[in-house]
Amino acid sequence: MNLTWTPQERRFRDEVRAFAEAKLPEDIRGKVLLHQRLERDDYVRWHNILADQGWGAPSWPVEHGGTGWNALERLIFEVECFKAGAPRLLPFGLSMIGPVLMKYGSAEQQARFLPRIPRVEDWWCQGYSEPGSGSDLASLKTRAERDGDGFVVNGQKTWTTLAQYADWMFCLARTDPGARAQRGISMLLLDMRDPGVTVRPIRTLDGGHDVNEVWLENVRVPAANLIGEENQGWTYAKYLLGHERTGIAGLGHCHRELGILKRMAENARSHGRPLLSDGRMRDRISRIEVDIMALEMLLLRVASSNDGAPGPEASVLKIRGSEIQQDLAMLQMEVAGPDAWPYDPDWMSADAAFQGPGPEMAAAAGAGYADMRKTSIYGGTTEVQKGIIARQVLGL
Ligand SMILES: Cc1cc2nc3c(=O)[nH]c(=O)nc-3n(C[C@H](O)[C@H](O)[C@H](O)COP(=O)(O)OP(=O)(O)OC[C@H]3O[C@@H](n4cnc5c(N)ncnc54)[C@H](O)[C@@H]3O)c2cc1C
Repeated sequence: MNLTWTPQERRFRDEVRAFAEAKLPEDIRGKVLLHQRLERDDYVRWHNILADQGWGAPSWPVEHGGTGWNALERLIFEVECFKAGAPRLLPFGLSMIGPVLMKYGSAEQQARFLPRIPRVEDWWCQGYSEPGSGSDLASLKTRAERDGDGFVVNGQKTWTTLAQYADWMFCLARTDPGARAQRGISMLLLDMRDPGVTVRPIRTLDGGHDVNEVWLENVRVPAANLIGEENQGWTYAKYLLGHERTGIAGLGHCHRELGILKRMAENARSHGRPLLSDGRMRDRISRIEVDIMALEMLLLRVASSNDGAPGPEASVLKIRGSEIQQDLAMLQMEVAGPDAWPYDPDWMSADAAFQGPGPEMAAAAGAGYADMRKTSIYGGTTEVQKGIIARQVLGL
């Protein structure tokens, strides 16, 4: 792998950097850099700004309306947008159901759903997990029973991220209860506006509402919304998870948070000197920086092999990415010291004469730390990823 950037790649980086600086709305940038919660409109606005530029689907091939960028271009794009303070792109359409539709969806499904994803004309959510079926996903109990030309779905999903905004859910349901666990599952595209769908919020540690319970009661799904073949949903579900896990590596996020950490350590004082001049603090920050560089190399290797379709190596990326994100959040909180808690949005805008890392950054550190605990759980826990690596990569 050649690690030297060509003049063309450097020009591309400068183009993305200038674009993000010029076009990213200030209010969105402010929220992202202070780890404040984004609203539906914030995401939709940024997606549409990118779509206007022709960059609405950075990881998709040109024939489906994507940019056709290679692995390095995608990586440059992600890192530059994140460093500028842009929100993450919503993964549910672009990097979860989108690739599944391209590989396994019918021509009608592709024509109907794919063009609406880049501008978030449809907001998708992921209906995999259920109470009692998280790591052991194949034990899921939601039932889809054949009824005329379609299915009737009953069950409960949980931890469904941002389902409060969703128009559609890609949902795993059991269509053959007699078959071995993985064999009897199908993937259905379910309309969230159906009267049988109820979304209830789950409040998280930082007081926010990102995740939900979703109850499905006699929800009708036409047969045209079945992905691929009935009872083969496990294959499509695993393909989707590979894409999800690669995304959770969060390289752009790591680069941005490293920059914030350095600024915080420059501003914070220890014995009258910037904390950044403390040798031990510099060591710890350098170590994370090296970890991020290694993650970047690994991501490029995975993304440039297998035509970009991630295999079990995505589990390595998922583990390392989530560990680094948590290390960054932990160190930011240490630098902020006692000012990291409590998280108080009013105080964050206070114009106080403050000797620490800055009241905004300090308060954001506590919220960021709480928020980052989830990265080693969602998309499959660290322990479960280690099991996959042991079996499928190391052949143990
Ligand atoms: C913030 C957040 C957002 C999420 N968003 C979504 C979403 O949008 N859609 C969705 O479908 N799901 C979502 N999830 C659910 C997520 O995928 C599950 O939480 C995850 O798979 C773990 O399942 P569980 O919570 O049932 O824990 P469990 O499976 O009960 O695990 C409990 C503990 O046991 C360990 N464990 C379990 N099995 C094994 C094993 N075989 N070997 C070793 N250790 C094991 C786990 O590592 C964990 O520490 C989200 C979760 C979170 C926290």
